[in-house]
Amino acid sequence: MGKPTGFLEHSRSPIPDRAPLDRVKDWDEIHEDFQEDKLKEQGSRCMDCGTPYCHTGMTISNMASGCPVNNLIPEWNDLVYQNKWRDALDRLHKTNNFPEFTGRVCPAPCEGSCVLGVIEPPVTIKSIECAIIDKGFKEGWVQPNPPKSRSGKKVAVVGSGPAGLAAADQLNKAGHSVTVYERADRIGGLLVYGIPNMKLDKKYVQRRVDLLTQEGIEFVVSTEVGKDLPAKQLIEEFDSVILCCGATKPRDLPIEGRELEGVHFAMDFLTKNTQGLLELKDVTAFETAAKGKDAVVIGGGDTGTDCVGTSLRHGCKSITQLEIMPRPPDERADDNPWPEWPKVYKMDYGQEEAKEIFGSDPRNYLTATKKFIGDENGKLKAVLIHEIEWKQENGRFSPIEVPGSEREIPAQVAFLAMGFLGPEDIIAEELGLERDSRSNIQAEYGKFSTNIDRVFSAGDMRRGQSLVVWAINEGRAVARECDRHLMGETSLP
Ligand SMILES: Cc1cc2nc3c(=O)[nH]c(=O)nc-3n(C[C@H](O)[C@H](O)[C@H](O)COP(=O)(O)OP(=O)(O)OC[C@H]3O[C@@H](n4cnc5c(N)ncnc54)[C@H](O)[C@@H]3O)c2cc1C
Ligand code: SF4
Repeated sequence: MGKPTGFLEHSRSPIPDRAPLDRVKDWDEIHEDFQEDKLKEQGSRCMDCGTPYCHTGMTISNMASGCPVNNLIPEWNDLVYQNKWRDALDRLHKTNNFPEFTGRVCPAPCEGSCVLGVIEPPVTIKSIECAIIDKGFKEGWVQPNPPKSRSGKKVAVVGSGPAGLAAADQLNKAGHSVTVYERADRIGGLLVYGIPNMKLDKKYVQRRVDLLTQEGIEFVVSTEVGKDLPAKQLIEEFDSVILCCGATKPRDLPIEGRELEGVHFAMDFLTKNTQGLLELKDVTAFETAAKGKDAVVIGGGDTGTDCVGTSLRHGCKSITQLEIMPRPPDERADDNPWPEWPKVYKMDYGQEEAKEIFGSDPRNYLTATKKFIGDENGKLKAVLIHEIEWKQENGRFSPIEVPGSEREIPAQVAFLAMGFLGPEDIIAEELGLERDSRSNIQAEYGKFSTNIDRVFSAGDMRRGQSLVVWAINEGRAVARECDRHLMGETSLP
């Protein structure tokens, strides 16, 4: 601990975001550049706790508490304070293959469980992580480092999201020849076609993919395994196959009017938008676009927030976000103590921007959608909503309509962002893979092997839609198990 009084002298100050009214005018990242001196100061707030909960990576009450990749947080906080950025970078890469992604998009369960958070705002761990890796790239410290020798073993990874990329990186480091198959035209999974540019600029994904390519990983894009290439062929041609295909089956809302023009899955909207930006097209001209329209986003999670931020950048006329759950409390509730993830009311970037433009948080809590209403041409013109109350019936909580609360809101475009139902079926059906009760691929955490010999599964495809940091955790862990299977032992961390 470089400065025992750091947390007494300095208050929390993360890397600031750009002003909402400025940033909605472009698709650049919302964050400002970091200032080294400020972050050194922030590093000094770390107390180097005897029991540092920040890096524990436990699951408490079904939520991550502490860093799921067990980042060596107190060590690099102190190294940054001491101006030893390169050492901090080495520590960071020991546990996290892609800190430039988590440093930008992670909700930071590390900060939720930081011990300083018991009495003061926690250490700005995420900002420090992002600054270490950004400085590492800027200084040229992150260079391709191909393995010295090859094992002669071949591994196929299907899916190039953070789980597939972490698995490929680790196995390549162990000397195996890795080929990654991806059905999209670009590598990155939801890092590219999911999380929008303002949260994660796609140039950072491509920068890492270029590095992995230079280290010897082969990438095959626009190839859907199970359709363009049988999964069985991969099993025949490779020593092991790792499936990291994500959990991309969207939850639908089969109510009256679902077929109307203007009702879209959130992912269709977000994917088209990113594709358009990458191809330098006018994204406000697409049929899914929100320009000049009253936009309704159904779902209050991350995906919903990304639809809000994207609609605002299109120049929507109004924005309403519907959330079926109650508004969280401003402070931790008694049944949500530290070091659990704090379930408290927060304005994410999209809501902050909406508030600046339209004057209020766009979220309507305890609200459900009853019907999409169309005009004579089959185009959406309004959404019928109503308030709900959660009532316990036969031991289960159910949403009950509040009588007389029904109302119509104008909408020419609506985005369904109500979560995901699990992985798609194509490979599972071809290979006869066993599924768990939530339809995810059955592969025990820690082992990752499926019911098919030499076939492993990890990331969202195994655990359901989750977080980038968990995908990296699982990618690293499945690589370890695959290496053990191939070589009889493993030294992968
Ligand atoms: C809109 C949105 C915003 C999000 N925001 C955040 C955030 O801010 N922070 C955060 O931590 N998490 C966020 N998440 C969650 C996070 O992106 C995922 O948990 C993470 O990307 C999962 O990684 P993965 O590698 O398991 O799968 P994915 O990233 O889903 O990658 C799976 C890949 O497999 C490919 N694939 C599927 N089937 C096949 C096949 N048959 N053949 C070849 N390729 C195939 C897919 O095209 C895809 O590229 C967000 C998710 C969404 C949808
Ligand atoms: S819990 Fe917080 S204060 Fe303690 S070591 Fe981790 S970052 Fe530092």
